[in-house]
Amino acid sequence: MYKVGITGGIGSGKTTVAKAFKELGVPVYYADDEAKKLTNTNAEIKEALIELIGEEVYEGGLLNRKLLASKIFSDKVLLEKVNAIIHPAVANHFKEWVANQTSAYVLKEAAILFESGSYKQLDATIVVSADEGVRVKRVMERDGSTKEEVLNRMANQWNEDQRLALADYVIKNNTTKELLVKQIQQVHEDIIRRANS
Ligand code: ATP
Repeated sequence: MYKVGITGGIGSGKTTVAKAFKELGVPVYYADDEAKKLTNTNAEIKEALIELIGEEVYEGGLLNRKLLASKIFSDKVLLEKVNAIIHPAVANHFKEWVANQTSAYVLKEAAILFESGSYKQLDATIVVSADEGVRVKRVMERDGSTKEEVLNRMANQWNEDQRLALADYVIKNNTTKELLVKQIQQVHEDIIRRANS
C-alpha cells in the first residue's frame, strides 16, 4: 500500500485538505485523534504512563491531559519518554489500519509528522502551507484563542522552511477553499501515478 503523510503548521488547513482527499475516496488516518483514543484504550500505553508519571495521570480511566501537559511543559526528557511510549503504539495501530485498506493509496494526517520522525515510514509527504499571519487569524477564529496562545503553540513545532524542505508536494492555502480544489486534484492524480508505477 502506498502511504502518504499530510502535515502543515497549526491552522494551515491540513484537516480541511485531508477531508477533501477523503471525498475523492482516499482513506485518511487522523494520527492525532487516534493517538488520543489510544491513550485511553491501549493497556500498554496506560501501564507505561502510570509507571512513568504516577496513578494520577489517569482519572476514571481517562488520561488527564492537563496534568500530563503541565508535567512535560518544561521537561524535555519526560516529553521524549512519553513520546517513546505513545508513538510506537500509534505506528502499530496505523500499520493494522493500513492492512485493512484497499484503495490506490492512503493518507496519514499528523501535526507532527516530521517532528516525530513518522514520515520516514511513508512513501511521500504533502505539506499544506500558509503564511503565519493567515494561520494565526484562522486559529484565533476557530478556537477563540489569543494571538499569544497560538504563537506559543507554533513555537513547539518546526517552522515552515523545515517542513517545506521535506515536502514532496506543497499545497498552498493562503486564500480561498475553492483554490484548494485544483491543487488537491493534481496532487491526487500524481500520487495515483506514483503508486501505480
Ligand atoms: P490545527 O493544526 O490547529 O489542527 P489545521 O492545519 O488542521 O489546524 P484546519 O482545522 O483545517 O487547520 O483549518 C483551520 C481553520 O481555518 C478552520 O476553521 C478551517 O475551516 C479554516 N480554513 C482552512 N482553510 C481555509 C481557507 N482556505 N479559507 C478560509 N478558511 C480556511
